[in-house]
Amino acid sequence: MGKKKRRTKAPARIHYGSAKNTDGDKQLCVWAICELSSNCFGPVWGHGQQSVTRALASLTKVCDCPAKFHNAREFSGKRIKPKPKTPRR
Ligand SMILES: [Zn+2]
Repeated sequence: MGKKKRRTKAPARIHYGSAKNTDGDKQLCVWAICELSSNCFGPVWGHGQQSVTRALASLTKVCDCPAKFHNAREFSGKRIKPKPKTPRR
């Protein structure tokens, strides 16, 4: 038989949403949810790729499933594209 493959990646879901920050302002944010253990990490502010990467990395730290990485496979919620910054003079 072949080599035993250890599961190092767990499928996760990214949920795009918004939440109130400590100042009470509504902010875009993401949650990462492990599909093996249903553990959840969030909110991580922002809807950008950086926020998704950070949410997945943080989920791995708090998640008790044996995976070393969490892989975003599913996406839910509505992703708001960031507005282009208007340069200030
Ligand atoms: Zn997990």
